Amino acid sequence: MNFCSICGSPVTLKIPPNDNLLRYVCIKCSAIHYQNPKIVVGAIPYWNESSNGKILLCRRAIEPRYGFWTLPAGFLENNETTGQAAVRETYEEAQARIDLLSLYTILNVAHAHQVHLFYRSNLLGLDFSPGIESLDVQLFSESEVPWDKIAFPTVTKTLELFFQDLSESNRLGKAFGFYTLDIEKKLPVNN
Ligand code: ZN
Repeated sequence: MNFCSICGSPVTLKIPPNDNLLRYVCIKCSAIHYQNPKIVVGAIPYWNESSNGKILLCRRAIEPRYGFWTLPAGFLENNETTGQAAVRETYEEAQARIDLLSLYTILNVAHAHQVHLFYRSNLLGLDFSPGIESLDVQLFSESEVPWDKIAFPTVTKTLELFFQDLSESNRLGKAFGFYTLDIEKKLPVNN
Protein backbone atom coordinates (compact mmCIF):
# COMPACT_ATOMS: atom_id res chain seq x y z
CA MET A 1 0.00 0.00 0.00
CA ASN A 2 1.41 3.40 -1.01
CA PHE A 3 -1.41 5.92 -0.75
CA CYS A 4 -4.29 6.65 1.59
CA SER A 5 -7.63 5.46 0.14
CA ILE A 6 -9.40 8.31 1.93
CA CYS A 7 -7.35 11.41 1.00
CA GLY A 8 -4.78 10.15 -1.52
CA SER A 9 -1.72 11.22 0.49
CA PRO A 10 1.24 8.87 1.00
CA VAL A 11 1.09 6.37 3.86
CA THR A 12 3.86 5.33 6.21
CA LEU A 13 4.33 2.12 8.20
CA LYS A 14 4.20 2.66 11.95
CA ILE A 15 2.78 1.26 15.16
CA PRO A 16 -0.20 3.42 16.18
CA PRO A 17 -0.72 4.35 19.87
CA ASN A 18 -2.17 1.47 21.94
CA ASP A 19 -1.36 -1.01 19.16
CA ASN A 20 1.50 -3.49 18.80
CA LEU A 21 1.70 -4.13 15.05
CA LEU A 22 2.97 -2.06 12.13
CA ARG A 23 0.10 -0.43 10.22
CA TYR A 24 -0.18 1.75 7.16
CA VAL A 25 -0.96 5.23 8.53
CA CYS A 26 -1.75 8.26 6.35
CA ILE A 27 0.82 11.05 6.85
CA LYS A 28 -1.87 13.70 6.28
CA CYS A 29 -5.27 12.56 7.64
CA SER A 30 -3.79 9.97 10.08
CA ALA A 31 -6.26 7.28 8.94
CA ILE A 32 -5.04 3.82 9.98
CA HIS A 33 -5.44 1.25 7.18
CA TYR A 34 -5.78 -2.16 8.84
CA GLN A 35 -5.08 -5.22 6.73
CA ASN A 36 -6.75 -8.50 7.68
CA PRO A 37 -6.95 -11.99 6.19
CA LYS A 38 -9.26 -12.78 3.30
CA ILE A 39 -11.91 -15.50 3.51
CA VAL A 40 -12.03 -18.13 0.76
CA VAL A 41 -15.17 -20.31 0.68
CA GLY A 42 -15.68 -23.52 -1.24
CA ALA A 43 -17.92 -26.57 -1.54
CA ILE A 44 -17.34 -30.31 -1.69
CA PRO A 45 -20.04 -31.30 -4.24
CA TYR A 46 -20.85 -34.95 -3.58
CA TRP A 47 -22.56 -37.38 -5.96
CA ASN A 48 -23.52 -40.84 -4.75
CA GLU A 49 -23.35 -43.13 -7.76
CA SER A 50 -24.41 -46.70 -6.94
CA SER A 51 -22.65 -46.51 -3.55
CA ASN A 52 -19.44 -45.29 -5.23
CA GLY A 53 -19.18 -41.73 -3.89
CA LYS A 54 -17.72 -39.12 -6.23
CA ILE A 55 -16.87 -35.44 -5.82
CA LEU A 56 -16.81 -32.68 -8.41
CA LEU A 57 -13.51 -30.99 -9.22
CA CYS A 58 -12.76 -28.08 -11.55
CA ARG A 59 -9.60 -27.72 -13.64
CA ARG A 60 -8.43 -24.11 -13.31
CA ALA A 61 -8.43 -21.85 -16.38
CA ILE A 62 -6.82 -19.01 -14.39
CA GLU A 63 -3.63 -18.31 -12.49
CA PRO A 64 -2.43 -19.16 -9.95
CA ARG A 65 -2.15 -22.91 -10.57
CA TYR A 66 -3.53 -22.86 -14.13
CA GLY A 67 -4.39 -26.40 -15.27
CA PHE A 68 -4.51 -27.82 -11.75
CA TRP A 69 -7.65 -29.26 -10.15
CA THR A 70 -9.59 -27.70 -7.30
CA LEU A 71 -12.84 -27.84 -5.42
CA PRO A 72 -15.05 -24.91 -6.48
CA ALA A 73 -14.04 -22.01 -4.20
CA GLY A 74 -13.39 -18.30 -4.18
CA PHE A 75 -13.24 -15.10 -2.16
CA LEU A 76 -16.21 -14.20 0.00
CA GLU A 77 -17.85 -10.98 -1.22
CA ASN A 78 -19.13 -8.12 0.92
CA ASN A 79 -22.85 -8.49 1.80
CA GLU A 80 -22.65 -12.25 1.23
CA THR A 81 -22.88 -15.16 3.69
CA THR A 82 -20.34 -17.97 3.58
CA GLY A 83 -23.05 -20.41 2.50
CA GLN A 84 -24.13 -18.14 -0.35
CA ALA A 85 -20.50 -17.87 -1.48
CA ALA A 86 -20.10 -21.67 -1.59
CA VAL A 87 -23.24 -22.06 -3.72
CA ARG A 88 -22.30 -19.13 -6.00
CA GLU A 89 -18.72 -20.28 -6.58
CA THR A 90 -19.92 -23.81 -7.40
CA TYR A 91 -22.30 -22.41 -9.99
CA GLU A 92 -19.76 -19.96 -11.45
CA GLU A 93 -16.93 -22.47 -11.78
CA ALA A 94 -18.85 -25.66 -12.56
CA GLN A 95 -22.36 -24.52 -13.55
CA ALA A 96 -23.41 -27.02 -10.90
CA ARG A 97 -26.33 -26.80 -8.47
CA ILE A 98 -25.82 -28.01 -4.90
CA ASP A 99 -27.67 -28.37 -1.63
CA LEU A 100 -25.42 -27.18 1.17
CA LEU A 101 -24.83 -29.47 4.14
CA SER A 102 -22.65 -28.58 7.12
CA LEU A 103 -19.37 -26.69 7.28
CA TYR A 104 -16.60 -29.31 7.07
CA THR A 105 -13.15 -27.70 7.25
CA ILE A 106 -11.65 -24.40 8.40
CA LEU A 107 -8.04 -24.08 7.25
CA ASN A 108 -5.79 -21.26 8.39
CA VAL A 109 -3.28 -20.27 5.72
CA ALA A 110 -1.69 -17.66 7.97
CA HIS A 111 1.38 -17.02 5.76
CA ALA A 112 -0.89 -16.24 2.77
CA HIS A 113 -3.21 -14.07 4.92
CA GLN A 114 -6.18 -16.30 4.12
CA VAL A 115 -8.72 -18.53 5.87
CA HIS A 116 -10.35 -21.25 3.73
CA LEU A 117 -13.75 -22.78 4.54
CA PHE A 118 -15.28 -25.79 2.79
CA TYR A 119 -18.89 -26.96 3.07
CA ARG A 120 -20.11 -30.48 2.42
CA SER A 121 -22.86 -30.45 -0.17
CA ASN A 122 -24.95 -32.69 -2.37
CA LEU A 123 -24.73 -32.26 -6.12
CA LEU A 124 -28.30 -31.94 -7.44
CA GLY A 125 -27.75 -33.18 -10.99
CA LEU A 126 -25.24 -34.11 -13.65
CA ASP A 127 -25.94 -31.04 -15.79
CA PHE A 128 -22.63 -29.36 -14.89
CA SER A 129 -20.11 -27.82 -17.28
CA PRO A 130 -16.99 -25.63 -17.09
CA GLY A 131 -17.63 -22.02 -16.10
CA ILE A 132 -15.47 -19.21 -17.43
CA GLU A 133 -12.73 -19.85 -14.83
CA SER A 134 -12.55 -23.59 -15.53
CA LEU A 135 -11.06 -25.69 -18.36
CA ASP A 136 -12.88 -28.84 -17.33
CA VAL A 137 -15.22 -30.18 -14.66
CA GLN A 138 -15.38 -33.86 -13.72
CA LEU A 139 -16.58 -36.28 -11.06
CA PHE A 140 -13.89 -38.30 -9.29
CA SER A 141 -13.97 -41.24 -6.89
CA GLU A 142 -11.12 -41.35 -4.35
CA SER A 143 -8.91 -43.53 -6.57
CA GLU A 144 -9.59 -41.35 -9.62
CA VAL A 145 -8.64 -38.01 -7.97
CA PRO A 146 -5.53 -36.52 -9.65
CA TRP A 147 -3.80 -36.21 -6.27
CA ASP A 148 -0.54 -34.85 -7.73
CA LYS A 149 -2.40 -32.21 -9.74
CA ILE A 150 -4.44 -30.57 -6.97
CA ALA A 151 -4.07 -26.78 -6.97
CA PHE A 152 -3.90 -25.99 -3.24
CA PRO A 153 -2.92 -27.79 -0.01
CA THR A 154 -6.22 -26.77 1.61
CA VAL A 155 -8.08 -28.69 -1.13
CA THR A 156 -5.82 -31.76 -0.81
CA LYS A 157 -6.30 -31.81 2.97
CA THR A 158 -10.07 -31.37 2.71
CA LEU A 159 -10.35 -34.16 0.11
CA GLU A 160 -8.21 -36.55 2.18
CA LEU A 161 -10.40 -35.99 5.23
CA PHE A 162 -13.60 -36.23 3.20
CA PHE A 163 -12.79 -39.57 1.57
CA GLN A 164 -11.62 -40.96 4.93
CA ASP A 165 -14.88 -39.90 6.58
CA LEU A 166 -16.89 -41.14 3.59
CA SER A 167 -15.31 -44.58 3.87
CA GLU A 168 -15.89 -44.73 7.64
CA SER A 169 -19.43 -43.49 7.17
CA ASN A 170 -20.14 -46.24 4.62
CA ARG A 171 -18.41 -49.05 6.54
CA LEU A 172 -19.12 -48.12 10.16
CA GLY A 173 -21.99 -45.66 9.98
CA LYS A 174 -19.72 -43.01 11.52
CA ALA A 175 -20.76 -39.36 11.25
CA PHE A 176 -18.70 -36.89 9.27
CA GLY A 177 -16.34 -34.78 11.38
CA PHE A 178 -15.55 -31.09 11.49
CA TYR A 179 -11.93 -30.05 11.24
CA THR A 180 -9.84 -26.96 11.97
CA LEU A 181 -6.34 -27.13 10.53
CA ASP A 182 -3.29 -24.95 10.02
CA ILE A 183 -1.47 -25.11 6.69
CA GLU A 184 2.24 -24.40 7.16
CA LYS A 185 4.32 -22.57 4.61
CA LYS A 186 6.27 -24.98 2.43
CA LEU A 187 10.01 -24.43 2.89
CA PRO A 188 12.25 -24.64 -0.18
CA VAL A 189 13.86 -28.07 -0.49
CA ASN A 190 17.69 -28.04 -0.58
CA ASN A 191 19.02 -30.64 -2.97
ZN1 ZN B 1 -5.34 10.13 4.33
